[in-house]
Amino acid sequence: VAKVTTTDVLIVGAGPVGLFAAFELGLFDMRCHLVDALDRPGGQCTELYADKPIYDVPGWPRILAQDLVDRLMEQIAPFAPGFTFNRMASAIAPRAGGGFRISTDGDDVFDARIVVIAAGGGAFQTFATTGEAPKARSVFHPVRRMEAFRDLTLDDDRIPVDTEKFQTSVAGMFAIGDISFYPGKLRLILCGFHEAALIAQAARRIVAPSERRVFQYTTSSTGLQKKLGVAD
Ligand SMILES: Cc1cc2nc3c(=O)[nH]c(=O)nc-3n(C[C@H](O)[C@H](O)[C@H](O)COP(=O)(O)OP(=O)(O)OC[C@H]3O[C@@H](n4cnc5c(N)ncnc54)[C@H](O)[C@@H]3O)c2cc1C
Repeated sequence: VAKVTTTDVLIVGAGPVGLFAAFELGLFDMRCHLVDALDRPGGQCTELYADKPIYDVPGWPRILAQDLVDRLMEQIAPFAPGFTFNRMASAIAPRAGGGFRISTDGDDVFDARIVVIAAGGGAFQTFATTGEAPKARSVFHPVRRMEAFRDLTLDDDRIPVDTEKFQTSVAGMFAIGDISFYPGKLRLILCGFHEAALIAQAARRIVAPSERRVFQYTTSSTGLQKKLGVAD
């Protein structure tokens, strides 16, 4: 029996960029659920170089990759996003009346108004190697072979997006982080963070088209601070 979760935004991939997207979307009052093929958040940072320092995250002269992931988890906690791990998004289909149904390689199914693909270089799958000292080994599933993305225009395994909204060839479906492609794209965490901020603006216009919102800073907006649980 399928287990259906309904959410405003389904984020495919809980790497650093998918995680930060939950923050930006949360500020815009959208409920997020993240699905990842791995058993924990962090994507490449956690899987490939957890104990290595990163030197080009703005404001952090040096931060260990795992520490960055831990801080992102702390930052998004006020919005309490949902997580489903050990599940690969395997199909994304439009729903009558708008939005999408996202199926996985398990029983979990998600109905969402917006889909954000933050799938990095593709899904990781971790296999335990056999032998006397079993060791986890991660492999990438190239995006090209992923059924879920078959309706999207791909460019060398990446998903082309516009640089205003970071929307894909399908309206309501966005792509950010390493998986996205546009002229000048760099596969850097800081670029993914910028892309996350811009999809939040565009996604809100789809979820609430008649709403008028003014741009606000977290430092000076009591409304935003209330959402973060830090208002006096
Ligand atoms: C060794 C190394 C060092 C690096 N150093 C730096 C650095 O110093 N500075 C810097 O800015 N960047 C660095 N990077 C790059 C940086 O790690 C990436 O830019 C960043 O991880 C991209 O984040 P992301 O969230 O887009 O994707 P990822 O981190 O790749 O996360 C994507 C997640 O999506 C999941 N996923 C994919 N498809 C599916 C699916 N169909 N269903 C479910 N889950 C799915 C994957 O399992 C994964 O967890 C480095 C990378 C490596 C490998």
